[in-house]
Amino acid sequence: MTLFNLPDFQQLQETILHCTSTDVEQALTARHPGIHGLAALISPAAEPFLPEMARRSALLTSQRFGKTIQLYAPIYLSNYCTNRCAYCGFAASNRIARRCLTLDEAEAEADILLERGFQHILLVSGEAENMVDVEYLEAIALRLRDRFAAISIEVQPLSTAHYARLFKAGITAVAVYQETYDQEMYKQVHLSGKKTDYNYRLETPARVAAAGMREVGIGALLGLTDWRAEGLALGLHLAWLRKNFWSTAVTVSFPRLRPAAGAFAPLVPVSEKNLSQLIFGLRIFDPDVGLLLSTREEERYRNGMLGLGPTRYSAGSCTAPGGYSNPDQTDGEQFSVGDQRTVEEVSLSIAAKGFDPVSKDWDAAFQTER
Ligand code: SF4
Repeated sequence: MTLFNLPDFQQLQETILHCTSTDVEQALTARHPGIHGLAALISPAAEPFLPEMARRSALLTSQRFGKTIQLYAPIYLSNYCTNRCAYCGFAASNRIARRCLTLDEAEAEADILLERGFQHILLVSGEAENMVDVEYLEAIALRLRDRFAAISIEVQPLSTAHYARLFKAGITAVAVYQETYDQEMYKQVHLSGKKTDYNYRLETPARVAAAGMREVGIGALLGLTDWRAEGLALGLHLAWLRKNFWSTAVTVSFPRLRPAAGAFAPLVPVSEKNLSQLIFGLRIFDPDVGLLLSTREEERYRNGMLGLGPTRYSAGSCTAPGGYSNPDQTDGEQFSVGDQRTVEEVSLSIAAKGFDPVSKDWDAAFQTER
């Protein structure tokens, strides 16, 4: 398998800083702005062009996705983790209440979401193979596959063979975020555990796609280092995946650091304006990519971004295992959510702005054997 080679992070920063307003104007009018166009769009030179970028991003989003906003909700299966990531509430060194759901408990959480109208769920866990392994995920997928249109996972990186096995069991997508593409920062915030292996994680989206998954999600955790260079790295990774695995759809997430156990403060502030510039830039760079905006962001911002670029929103999320069955339980959550609304409230806001909240955009009947 060919490997994704990322240029040096500093080189990415320099490329961005050399962009001029002429580069931005060219990127805004080009049919295919390319990677140099993306560098210009997320550069400081593009900041005065934010309103034009928002208009272009909104136009491309409506041409490709119409009025639809897909809705999904996470189910936290386990908060056990063998890694120590400095920014995460689940880090092995944090003293929090730990729990791994039984298959029956996971099914009960899924049924609550089904009753709320969700057809797309994301199964999330910390990275502890002794608690959540392929057999466990396979068993959950087999139980739930006939009830949901899409079941995604966000768990520890796995092998291609394991992804293929989970795809067969009914898992349709895998999210695996690099957190930061800056190797030096990666070393500083990933203190121990298997996740310290930068390259193994970087190669994971390719293993997901090689296994035949329908979709792979990539992303960077914003607040660790220069968001502009992270954005360019995301664009390069996205373009490489598209070129090498054309039959697997790609989505991009932009999680900004939230308060969590361990009290890690963002090392580099990323404002809503910065986040918007990154979202618009990626949309203009790749009109087909699914862009996610989670409940990490607040209601006001999420409402304001409707139709401007993001195509998938989480809603009514709880980030502690068993949290839908026990809504008063907050101990053991990964981070505190910014948008506390129920799915009904989120759907109403989406509809009030003239968009269609969509819980299902896929059916297993469309699936062909690969
Ligand atoms: S980010 Fe993931 S791997 Fe790191 S501590 Fe949190 S749950 Fe574990």
